[in-house]
Amino acid sequence: MKNPRPEWLTIRLNHADPLPVRACLRELNLTTVCAGARCPNRAECYGNGRATFMLMGEICTRRCRYCAVPTGEKKTPLPLDDDEPRRVAAAAARLKLRHLVITSVTRDDLPDGGAAHFARTVAAGREAVPAATIEILTPDFGGDEAAWRVAAASLPAVYNHNVETVARLFPLIRPQGDFARSVRQLAWVKKNSPRLTTKSGLMVGLGETAAEVLATARELRAAGVDLITVGQYLPPTDKHYPAQRYVTPDEFARLREDLVALGFAAVAAAPLVRSSYRAEETYATVRR
Ligand code: SF4
Repeated sequence: MKNPRPEWLTIRLNHADPLPVRACLRELNLTTVCAGARCPNRAECYGNGRATFMLMGEICTRRCRYCAVPTGEKKTPLPLDDDEPRRVAAAAARLKLRHLVITSVTRDDLPDGGAAHFARTVAAGREAVPAATIEILTPDFGGDEAAWRVAAASLPAVYNHNVETVARLFPLIRPQGDFARSVRQLAWVKKNSPRLTTKSGLMVGLGETAAEVLATARELRAAGVDLITVGQYLPPTDKHYPAQRYVTPDEFARLREDLVALGFAAVAAAPLVRSSYRAEETYATVRR
């Protein structure tokens, strides 16, 4: 869709100074999904001293059509950086994070998909900022239950895995993913680690119908998902899958009501919501 973005998707750049976060990331040689995915909220989040750390390098082994993170078609992912967990923890301490959000590229080339690396980073973060809550936003680890177990056993406060889109569009948008596998992961985590808060999210504007969004949400709720996020898909470049339409703020408001009625403990649904957008506040609503 080439139409200019509507007014409600205009990003206002009147936030606090993002430079301290940028300097911290540069000095500690860390990557964020905020930058990697060209997130529209970066100015706000960095300005508020927040970022979502992206582990295991800048090369993803999958080719999701919505994502700006470089894929491994031309480059091989690098070996794991054993010092990365310490640096993420150091950044969390330096930024005085109260809620540390950690994600990664997908690393299908690693035997455990990087689950142990997630666990090491959670442990390092817990030591560096003991009062902070920790949220992991994981890939599907290829459906490997052993990897799910390792990631869940690190006991993050929130175990997040995004389905991103409805089942019908998965083969088109996430060709190497599998909707059922993603839902299975969320259900497995809730069943085997019931004390963890589980979270998932999807983008709208990819060609799904409102009924499909609700059906997806029902399926996530049936899998025990506690928190849900829904935001407008915005293609990072002209080469990415085009947005099929812009969902209006009124439609988001109605969707939000429907999602609350499904029984999610917390719902974030608005045009510029992203999975980790104001994650601390979303989680805080279930801690009360
Ligand atoms: S919404 Fe998430 S990915 Fe986007 S800038 Fe904020 S923390 Fe980063």
